[in-house]
Amino acid sequence: MLTGMQIAVIGGDARQLEIIRQLTEHDAKLSLVGFEQLDHAFTGASKEKIDEIDFTVQDAIILPVRGTDQDGLVDTVFSSEKIILTKEMLEQLPAHAIVFSGISNPYLDGITNESNRRLVKLFERDDVAIYNSIPTVEGTIMMVIQHTDFTIHGSNVAVLGLGRVGVTVARTFQALGAKVRVGARRSEHKARITEMGLIAFDLSDLESNMKDVDICINTIPTQIVTASVISKMPAHTLIIDLASKPGGTDFRYAEKRGIKALLAPSLPGIVAPKTAGQILANVLIKLLKEDMKKREENQA
Ligand code: NAP
Repeated sequence: MLTGMQIAVIGGDARQLEIIRQLTEHDAKLSLVGFEQLDHAFTGASKEKIDEIDFTVQDAIILPVRGTDQDGLVDTVFSSEKIILTKEMLEQLPAHAIVFSGISNPYLDGITNESNRRLVKLFERDDVAIYNSIPTVEGTIMMVIQHTDFTIHGSNVAVLGLGRVGVTVARTFQALGAKVRVGARRSEHKARITEMGLIAFDLSDLESNMKDVDICINTIPTQIVTASVISKMPAHTLIIDLASKPGGTDFRYAEKRGIKALLAPSLPGIVAPKTAGQILANVLIKLLKEDMKKREENQA
């Protein structure tokens, strides 16, 4: 249980609802900022404005997956309130307080560093990234079906990158009957791709692997699907770019060539917000319990 813990949940989307539900079930006391348009009431949680929060008593702050923008603005879909997180707010937190976010940026890194508060980026954890790859791939399949007039089964699918998302994408499209090839740069990745029964190619041969591709799914967060690569694709090729913004595709050139190229961010939050929220809530609760235990041991 998290009895006695005080947590501020600041902003977010439908994923946060599952986090709030699980935290209240664990008996944490919550202040919810940016949720006033939400009809649902949670026992043990009060809706507040950012300037009503007593930061001196918070054991943790939970931000949306994106954290803040470059100016400290925190996104929320359940409020029209403009929420800005500042260094001065974090400075008021108790020294042990933890700030949780999915990812970070120079602004959030800066204010947590300057206020000497701990920032935990949940999406940097392998467990979160691997669990999260499941709804990501389901969303990818949905997009492919919506934007093609041919079946995935029998299609030539090129997956770029064999990281936590790439593995799940490659395996799932293979299971759907696609002819999957995966581009990687590391020799051990190529060995794994071959072991999985897929065709491995080196990213230096990307262009030559594009001439018969029906669907190209990029997971590499760097400019990799360049104009030159796109120029080798058949006109009907669909590019789905899963890499974080701005993606790894030359979208301008794809449009010019008439090739459909879609940047598909935040698919878990779109196709399965409940599951995506559960993935985050499970890890959050584990980390909060560990932190609580450590503090109790230090006090004993
Ligand atoms: P990851 O485990 O770090 O994998 C990244 C892959 O990209 C690895 O295979 C890596 O290869 C390769 N790579 C990175 N930089 C490269 C470069 N300069 N040249 C060639 N290959 C390079 O990351 P992940 O968890 O799979 O996530 C992949 C991307 O998807 C991220 O941008 C993440 O934010 C995004 N994402 C999007 C969604 C969505 O809904 N669209 C959901 C989850 C994640 P090496 O090992 O050789 O570096």
